[in-house]
Amino acid sequence: PQHFIGDPVRLHQVMLNLVGNAVKFTERGEVALIISCSPEHNDEMQVCIEVRDTGIGISTEAQQRLFAAFTQADNSTTRRFGGSGLGLAISKRLVELMQGHIELDTVKGSGSTFRAFIPLGSCVTTSEAGERTQRSESSNDSLKGLRVLLVEDVATNRMVATAMLKKQGIEVATAENGSQAADMAQHGHYDVILMDIRMPVMDGYEASAVIRSNEALGPSAHRTVIIALTANALESDRQACLDAGMDDFLSKPFTRDALYEILLRWSHTNDRDSSAAKPASL
Ligand code: ADP
Repeated sequence: PQHFIGDPVRLHQVMLNLVGNAVKFTERGEVALIISCSPEHNDEMQVCIEVRDTGIGISTEAQQRLFAAFTQADNSTTRRFGGSGLGLAISKRLVELMQGHIELDTVKGSGSTFRAFIPLGSCVTTSEAGERTQRSESSNDSLKGLRVLLVEDVATNRMVATAMLKKQGIEVATAENGSQAADMAQHGHYDVILMDIRMPVMDGYEASAVIRSNEALGPSAHRTVIIALTANALESDRQACLDAGMDDFLSKPFTRDALYEILLRWSHTNDRDSSAAKPASL
């Protein structure tokens, strides 16, 4: 994979928990840990962490409650095996933070298989990689000096995206919520605003609407390109972005190339202050 979105600390914790449980609840037979990588959709790859055991298994009723905090398959397991009943709830949360999901296949009395699927961002074949490199290199110059306002409430995401942007010589300013972004957009001059949607204080929809109305009321005809950073690829979410005055959207988690491509597409509209921005065709 080109860019690994999963966090090694989180992955480690999930593996430790699943393998720990498998060993704990298996008195004979075996425990297997299988890690594989497979294409999901488009060129997105996902990693699968599979932990398989031949242990006591989990009853159908207990499976329903398993991922909720503080549950154990049955109260007698506490006495026999110990444990807090929190591990799986935490693992599920960690996997979801990496945009993945957990599946469970189990038969009471014969064993369990837990699978954690985590998306990896884009993975390219060697020949595609050559093309991509060329494209990234050519975008190098075009993106240099572009002024981007990155609006994102999660510090880690802000750090990762800032590093990606700076790598291309882009000038980056950051805001932690929509309200701060709207203020900064009014006083600074940005070519592109990368706008997270779900944020505290003021979300991306409202912030975009405020920015558009400030622009309309302002003295110049400058219209900043606003690209939504959205975790939802649903058509209705996309439409909501456009309705709020945004120009385009980039699904999270995104790869470096996807980010450069969308910026490149829109950066050409900034040479002129058009009131109806349109992406340049590549
Ligand atoms: P803990 O192990 O600390 O009790 P977990 O959330 O990790 O908490 O697990 C919750 C319960 O799910 C366990 O107590 C056990 O009853 C059941 N369980 C988890 N993994 C397995 C497994 N591999 N085989 C059988 N039962 C399991």
